[in-house]
Amino acid sequence: MLNNPENKNTVKFTDTTFRDGHQSLMATRLKTADMEPIAELMDSIGFHSMEVWGGATFDVATRYLTEDPWDRLRRFKSLIKSTPLSMLLRGQSLVGYRNYADDVVEKFIERSAHNGIDIFRVFDALNDERNLEKSTSAIKDVSKHLQLAICYSVTDGGSMGGPIYTLDYFINKAKSLESMGADSICIKDMAGLLSPFDAYNLFSELKKYIKVPLQLHTHYTSGMASMSALKAIEAGVDAVDACLSPLALRTSQPAIEPLVMSLKNHFRDSGLQLELIHQASDQLESILKKYRQDLEMPRASIIDAKVLSHQIPGGMISNLISQLKELGALDKLENVLADIPSTRKDLGYPPLVTPISQMVGSQSVSNILNGKYNMISSQLQNYLKGMYGKPPAKVSDDLINGVDPKDILNQDTRPADLLKPEITDATTTIKDITTDIDDILTYTLYPTTGMKFLRQKHGLDPVTKVEKEEQLEKPTPLISKIDNNSQLPTKSSSVKTFNVFVEGQYFEVEVDPVYNKPSTNPAVTGKPESEEKTEIPEGDILLAPMPGTISKYNVQLGDQISKGNVVLILEAMKMENALSAPKSGIVTEISFKDGDMVSKGDILAVIS
Ligand code: MN
Repeated sequence: MLNNPENKNTVKFTDTTFRDGHQSLMATRLKTADMEPIAELMDSIGFHSMEVWGGATFDVATRYLTEDPWDRLRRFKSLIKSTPLSMLLRGQSLVGYRNYADDVVEKFIERSAHNGIDIFRVFDALNDERNLEKSTSAIKDVSKHLQLAICYSVTDGGSMGGPIYTLDYFINKAKSLESMGADSICIKDMAGLLSPFDAYNLFSELKKYIKVPLQLHTHYTSGMASMSALKAIEAGVDAVDACLSPLALRTSQPAIEPLVMSLKNHFRDSGLQLELIHQASDQLESILKKYRQDLEMPRASIIDAKVLSHQIPGGMISNLISQLKELGALDKLENVLADIPSTRKDLGYPPLVTPISQMVGSQSVSNILNGKYNMISSQLQNYLKGMYGKPPAKVSDDLINGVDPKDILNQDTRPADLLKPEITDATTTIKDITTDIDDILTYTLYPTTGMKFLRQKHGLDPVTKVEKEEQLEKPTPLISKIDNNSQLPTKSSSVKTFNVFVEGQYFEVEVDPVYNKPSTNPAVTGKPESEEKTEIPEGDILLAPMPGTISKYNVQLGDQISKGNVVLILEAMKMENALSAPKSGIVTEISFKDGDMVSKGDILAVIS
């Protein structure tokens, strides 16, 4: 049966190494330059497709890696010549965290196809077909493969059934997606919730009603993925997602190697050659050596059997961990995971997938750190208004009562119908930086971090982030960087000296707390430097409740504002948070500017 072209039952494999593999295990930090060396080898293996783009790859490339995501796609296309490239698209949210206007969806899909995408896997976090309509027509317009995905979820407990996510739910969704024109249908199990026998039942039944090919995307998180993939194969699924072993298992996909091996000489044998796969895995293994820090997991267990209750998808767990690390609250991980089921229930049991998983995850972090629902992101407020689509079940009265009924979207209206075209305005805003359409899309999708990236890409700002990361790999330049810096702030009397030990070397580091110094830059505060240490009454200060990026100050120096007025929008944990004035008064200090990154406890503004 091996390599028999007559065998129409061959299981097809989609390799996820360059997208979901590192998104799940290392917060999407794999650089293009580290994937390029094995791209041609991967191409020679004969995968059905390679998922290389979309999901978080777009955001992370610009936000953390100072890499052009479009360039990544073009490079993959030039190296991977015979395997179709696929991307994950979040329906009307594209590769972002909110719904974008139709003109953005059309242009983004047109440019993605132009730059190299052959297969678009499209899903909506709420499985709301209205959010898939525009991408569906745009993908048809560029004549590419449209794969529509259903987010797999369970209500409570671990298995299919219950009041919402029943076998009928999935069959009806699949029928509806097929009638929309899907070229194939994917069951997208973000958190590895699909159990082996449910997988068997699900795909056996889907095969009876659905004519287009079926694919399974699942995660290993709960430990069931390889078993579920095998049972899905037994039930007739056409294609399965898997990952090269170094980036497989844990919260990622099942590993390719044991699946290929299990099917050897079976009538559904994939025909893939293990020799080539081993070569690719070996090379990937040595590339990953320098990423060891990113791969560090806080737990010894490689599976998380409790995922069946918190349902957080793979990418989101690594995100939660890095967010909590930044907040210095990694010890709260268990509390955050424990809060998630009740928050999800309050929101009407949405499947936990981007952007809803971020919204719920960030809300749970905030619930644990700031008290339940004391801070609600603007994204979550929009969810409550129906701007993300129809929640699968009723939202809790407590939450919905906080929303003005006039603001709640009529169920007959497609959420994106309310959005005005965005591309023309974005083009005007950044015309002095770039006129490239891919750049314009980057900015439209990510106005704050995208702008920051584009200024660096076009040489208007220095590339600070990459410099910093490279220095961390080699300990010594840390010190020389500081020595060479001519713009040192003045040391205060509270400076303390610490010995810092790094791999057998040690550095003497002077640490000077900055919280009693509103700003070291007199030009920003409008105060002479000598006044720096003036004590400010605590009630006057607006502090950053968590680390993040300032999206926008809504007030100016000297403005008269009332208690509760929004002073600024802080983007933290990928959510926008409106921070309001602690008291009425006059804005006497604005300590940062739009786009600045702030740490927890930084003074953002002073109201006197
Ligand atoms: Mn996934």
